[in-house]
Amino acid sequence: MTGLARLRDAVRGLTRLAEAGAGQERWLSEGADLLRDLVSADDWLPAPFAECGPGYRQYLLHCDPLERFSLVAFVWGPGASTPVHDHTVWGLVGMLRGEEISTEMHHGPPMVPGRVDRLRPGEVLAIRPEDNDIHRVENALADRASISVHIYGANIGAVRRHVFDPATGARREFISGYSNGLVPNFWDRSKEPAAGAT
Ligand code: FE
Repeated sequence: MTGLARLRDAVRGLTRLAEAGAGQERWLSEGADLLRDLVSADDWLPAPFAECGPGYRQYLLHCDPLERFSLVAFVWGPGASTPVHDHTVWGLVGMLRGEEISTEMHHGPPMVPGRVDRLRPGEVLAIRPEDNDIHRVENALADRASISVHIYGANIGAVRRHVFDPATGARREFISGYSNGLVPNFWDRSKEPAAGAT
């Protein structure tokens, strides 16, 4: 399987999990397997969703119609980083291109850094709201973009969550939204070999 069929296949697998009523731990195990498959090859993300800006961009790739999960490509400019933030729902981060560093942060004040994960292409990290929900993420590379693909247990761009000031621990509500107005069309099968259609 190549190209956008990979993305379609992942969305179908995730939809089956949602339909099966999967709980958090099943999402973080079987959803992680689907994400690992998706980021095992870097031949499918359409160029408009890999464009980098000065900071970071979050491109919605797919949102479940019932908002049970969403799939997002994060494109980090050289040296870009997020503020300290939470998610409030489970999440999976799969590295597609380049490298990123995720640093867990613990309540303070001042907030204290915890576990640090450096993700390389093909690797997947799980985020649990009750465990490692608060972190900051940065592009580990100063000279080029890095891209990770995330799955969350909600329409993450619409979730009311928080950014934190690490010095004081003060938190502020935010809703991230998305950087794109259009989503990838992975439903045009006309250029795919019929035998490969699933
Ligand atoms: Fe995050």
